[in-house]
Amino acid sequence: MQKIKFEEFPIILHISNRHIHITKEHFEQLFGKDIQLTKYKDLLQPGQFAANETVDILGPKGEFRNVRIVGPFRNSTQIEISRTDSFVLGIRPPIRDSGNIKGSEGVVVGGPKGKIELKEGCIIAQRHIHFFVEDAKSLGIEDKDLVKILVGKSKGRETIFSDVLCRVSKNYATECHLDTDEANAAMADNGDIVYILEKIRY
Ligand SMILES: [Zn+2]
Repeated sequence: MQKIKFEEFPIILHISNRHIHITKEHFEQLFGKDIQLTKYKDLLQPGQFAANETVDILGPKGEFRNVRIVGPFRNSTQIEISRTDSFVLGIRPPIRDSGNIKGSEGVVVGGPKGKIELKEGCIIAQRHIHFFVEDAKSLGIEDKDLVKILVGKSKGRETIFSDVLCRVSKNYATECHLDTDEANAAMADNGDIVYILEKIRY
C-alpha cells in the first residue's frame, strides 16, 4: 500500500567510486598483523566508513593505485569498479548485487606487505537504492523490487535509469547508489536528488 507518491519522495544520491570491501584475513596479508583499519570518514549507511587505508588493484592490462577500503571488515572480499575501470584493468566483471560474487571476475590486490591473487570478487555493482524499512513501506516498495529512476534533473543530461534494485533493511539509510559511469552519463553529482518513476514488474 503506497502512502506517498514517488514524485513526492526525493532520494539522495551517492556516487560510488571504485572501492574494496575486505576480509580481516586479506587485510592482514596486505598490511601486516599489527596494522588497524582506521576511519577516514563515516558513510551515510550506518556503520559503514571510508578507511584511510588503500590498496592497489592490478589487472592484466592496467592498474589503479590508492583504491579506498570501505569498512568494517566483511566475510568475503569484494571489489566494485565501473565498466570504464574494467577496460583499464583488462577484465570483464559481471553486474552483480553486493555480496553475490560467486563466479565473478578475478583480480590482483596489492598492499604494502604483499599481493593477493583473487580468483573471484570483482564486480560492477548493480545500481541500487538502500531503503530504511519505514520509507520503503510508505512507498509500497519491497526488498528486491526493481524501479526506474530519474537522475540529473534539470542538469542538461536528465537520464532515466531502469533496473535499479531496491534493498530494504532496518540497518539502511535511504539513499541511491550509482557508480561513476552512471552518474557521469546523467551529469549527476554527489548529494543530488533522484526520483523513482515507477516499479518494474517482470
Ligand atoms: Zn549501496
